Amino acid sequence: MIRQKTRRTLVWGYLLWFCVLITGCSLEGWEAAGGQPGENASWISKEQDEGQLRVLFLDVGQGASQLLISPSGHTMLIDAGNNDKEDEMLGYLQAYGVRHLDLVIGTHPDADHIGGLDRVIDRVDIGQVYMPKVQSNTKTFESLLTSIRNKGLKVKTAKAGLDLAWDEQVQVKMLAPATSTDDNNNMSAVVKVTYGDTSFLLTGDAESESERAMLESGANLRADVLLVGHHGSKSSTTARFLNAVKPKYAVIQVGENSYGHPTKTILDRLAKQKVEVYRNDLQGTVEIVSDGKGYQIITER
Ligand SMILES: [Zn+2]
Repeated sequence: MIRQKTRRTLVWGYLLWFCVLITGCSLEGWEAAGGQPGENASWISKEQDEGQLRVLFLDVGQGASQLLISPSGHTMLIDAGNNDKEDEMLGYLQAYGVRHLDLVIGTHPDADHIGGLDRVIDRVDIGQVYMPKVQSNTKTFESLLTSIRNKGLKVKTAKAGLDLAWDEQVQVKMLAPATSTDDNNNMSAVVKVTYGDTSFLLTGDAESESERAMLESGANLRADVLLVGHHGSKSSTTARFLNAVKPKYAVIQVGENSYGHPTKTILDRLAKQKVEVYRNDLQGTVEIVSDGKGYQIITER
């Protein structure tokens, strides 16, 4: 069962963001000051009904970031967009009332995924950090490691087979990387989140090589919601993988780009399988709420 709401409230999101940026005022302050955002602003909602899992595919332009809030209020951040999205990321966390992140996963060292993570780690209270065992000599990666070190945190290795403790009612399983390679994308941490009858597969930039390894690992890949690998590049979402996942809904985290993402090949493949597709470039932030039985999908526009 699915209910969908579309709300045109981008302007309120940005007002809030500028308010935070320029005056440093908090969301609470803004609300208390009598600025009635009106019914429309509720696409950014701090309210969460009991028993709900919220998975937010944050619009960070060409890049990726997913914020998850569990039924008991535990939080998880997977990736944080590019370097130039740092302030936006902090704005999102503040808007959603997130002051503590129980789990932080940097799927792989590419800038469009971990670029904004250093500032998030500097500014937010952090529980555990997971990243795959793959190195990068970029400034972005170095800066993330510095933030982690400065905070006194240790990086745990992201790899297939891990069960992450997050919320008693939600299973969080890591399905990749299942093998070792020096290819960053194929070292992406892939996470499957299961709550009741509902499931999400969050794939980072995993490409066909990693998809093959996941298939061969014998892990249960079936999921209703698929984060389409590598922004809809044709090097990911192979027919075999898509067949194993059999998603009902797919989200493509994509913004303006010169790579041709998402590719027609992948859009056609998803259409052929009758998968309902949501995109950050067309719909802004996409929020999928699960009550353990069905989904409610809320898009920013
Ligand atoms: Zn990427």
